[in-house]
Amino acid sequence: MSPLSFSHTLRQNLKKDVFYEKSTRPFTIALAGNPNCGKTSLFNAITGAHQHVGNWGGVTVEVKEGSVTFNKNEIRVVDLPGTYSLTAFSLEESVARDFIIHEKPDVVVNVIDATNLERNLYLTVQLLELGVRPLLAFNMWDEVRNKQIEINIKLLSELLDVPIVTTIGKNCTNINKLLDTAVLMAKEERCKYNRQISEFPAEVVQVIEKLISVPVMNSFGVSAQWLAIKLLENDSEVRSAVKEAEGGSGILEIADSARSKIELILGEDAQSIIAEARYGFIAGALRETVRKPVRNRVEISDQIDSIITHPVWAFPVFFLFMWLLFQATFVLGAYPQGLLESGVEFLRESVLNLMPDTVLRSLIIDGIIGGVGGIIVFLPNILILFFGIAIMEDSGYMARAAFITDKVMHKVGLHGKSFIPMLMGMGCNIPAIMAARTLESETDRRKTILLAPLISCSARLPVYVLFAGALFPKHAGNIVFLFQFVFGTLSFFIMAYIFKKTLFKGDEQPFVMELPPYRLPTFRSVLIHMWQRAEHFLKKMGGVVLVFSIILWVLSNYPVNSEIEESYNGKIDSVRISTELSSEQKESKTGVLESEMRLEQLKYTGIGRIGMALEPFFRPLGFKWRESVSLLTGFVAKEVIVSSMGVLYLADDSELDRDQRLKTAIADHFTPLKGFAFMFFVLLYTPCVVALITVIRELKSVKWSIFSVVYQIALAWIVTFAIYQGGRLIGLQ
Ligand code: GDP
Ligand code: MG
Repeated sequence: MSPLSFSHTLRQNLKKDVFYEKSTRPFTIALAGNPNCGKTSLFNAITGAHQHVGNWGGVTVEVKEGSVTFNKNEIRVVDLPGTYSLTAFSLEESVARDFIIHEKPDVVVNVIDATNLERNLYLTVQLLELGVRPLLAFNMWDEVRNKQIEINIKLLSELLDVPIVTTIGKNCTNINKLLDTAVLMAKEERCKYNRQISEFPAEVVQVIEKLISVPVMNSFGVSAQWLAIKLLENDSEVRSAVKEAEGGSGILEIADSARSKIELILGEDAQSIIAEARYGFIAGALRETVRKPVRNRVEISDQIDSIITHPVWAFPVFFLFMWLLFQATFVLGAYPQGLLESGVEFLRESVLNLMPDTVLRSLIIDGIIGGVGGIIVFLPNILILFFGIAIMEDSGYMARAAFITDKVMHKVGLHGKSFIPMLMGMGCNIPAIMAARTLESETDRRKTILLAPLISCSARLPVYVLFAGALFPKHAGNIVFLFQFVFGTLSFFIMAYIFKKTLFKGDEQPFVMELPPYRLPTFRSVLIHMWQRAEHFLKKMGGVVLVFSIILWVLSNYPVNSEIEESYNGKIDSVRISTELSSEQKESKTGVLESEMRLEQLKYTGIGRIGMALEPFFRPLGFKWRESVSLLTGFVAKEVIVSSMGVLYLADDSELDRDQRLKTAIADHFTPLKGFAFMFFVLLYTPCVVALITVIRELKSVKWSIFSVVYQIALAWIVTFAIYQGGRLIGLQ
């Protein structure tokens, strides 16, 4: 008979992505534990790999893998998603459970927040039920000391019959001892555990024993006792797996009738009875081994929380933090940005002076420096933004922000946790879309992924800055603020509401996020965190944007129509040799003719043709071919819009004062109304290709992916149309 299989697709994905290694099989250590107990910190300490370390529920949703050679043993280390139980309530729990059951790691290191043993050991007990003998890492040992909690490790280890090592994930304390013990366990094969279930009520024990005695129960490749407990708990995945097996429906019948009998006798549902028994067992073990100091003062965390999650004060505090983040990002960020700008300008001028006037020089200056340089100047802003977000996450504030926003989010059918992707989206939509993984319910996740791209990411900022500066010089700051923070957020909420009322009626998850204690973020972790995201930005720029800048340069310079050139050159020559005109008149006439020629040439190029072909689609919005071309280029990355506008509007190739001239060109080609409409289109239409790929990957559904693209283009078109035509109706320009 085939082994019990849970969530097939998940398993297949896991295998494909990370877990398959055919060659010499090293030891595998899996880190399991509640969210925020320090798994990822330990993982980093063991493998030296830098991973995302955060402080809100379930930052680790993907399974991460690393390796280490310890005392000549090659060890594979897997960082499992945070879970409270082994019941498949959420994606995280299924992933962790499936890994432990199917991949059978040599040692499961159960990471425990030792300041909170009651809750953390709940998972341990379930591992024991599963027949897994974990190695317990009592993490946060520094906090245990600070709080003057006394734990008799030796006695507790004997009571549970599992080894315990105390660790401090934050500063790598005791990692060697942990690995030593793990290697020892793996070699001794002392990882099997036969847990006594004597703390369960007699009725439950009886049923479990009866179920175990059915032969089929032992053919699933997983502990029969665990299966029996899960059947009593009415675990849906286990049920359906058993049902598929031969003789499975008979087992289900026994379990179901036993469950109703138990519930009748004990007057409570079986799930609670079992959970209570587990907690009872834990409490018993802890009563013997843990001594806590009498708590005679409110803990600092609680004191801070009385303000930060206060029904009234929470919001001013929240907006204060957001305002600080914004100021730091843009006001403070303006200084390094200025430096980078001069650097890019210097580079451009150096190339201009050093190289002869060739096609290659044009490629380097317009294609490469123009494209990449125009974006790299935003790196400081992005670094600061990510730095701020990292501090918020690591300190524990992010979870509070999600908590206090739940009420509002719920009104539009979203979960408090959806707030986090929303805020992240202001940096970049890609981590935002990924962050939606922390949502337990499929519907919540899908909704959040569909909505996240509406939040204005930092790549859209250059476009707003350019347009606001060119068209609304007096109010540029406010306009940029509106687009970057207000309009995106508003469309997020409005669309969420529309989705709630149409596509996603019903089915909402209650809020079950727990607030982790406040922790002083470590500088290292914040830097790693910030860097991981900045790295992504840089890679995108180095790769996609560079390639695209070059493609764009080729498309906007080729093919060349020699007829246009000849005919204009003829006209220019005839002006030059004309005797009727003064030399000033000649100069201005040839200038006009030259720019006309460039325009004609541009229309003949690849990009001109595509843009003109799309023009009818954009015409009702007031956009001509140039605008349609630049929007087209924005599919590759929204920041490319700015660099492509440089190519499209600045038909002459002088390098002087390029930014200022681009602004002037925008002011010439756009009325304020048209510019405003254009900014809206940029805000709302499909995100860049990389984000789009992320959306498609995360939605895991062709239908929803197509929907995501179509709805955003439609939304952008409709809103822009309404603004442009509406504005004209009331006489705006
Ligand atoms: P995970 O969700 O289990 O992966 O937990 P993380 O590794 O992301 O850690 C959550 C938070 O706890 C982070 O802010 C860590 O810096 C912090 N942390 C991890 N280990 C320790 C520790 O031993 N002591 C203290 N004081 N903090 C820790
Ligand atoms: Mg983690």
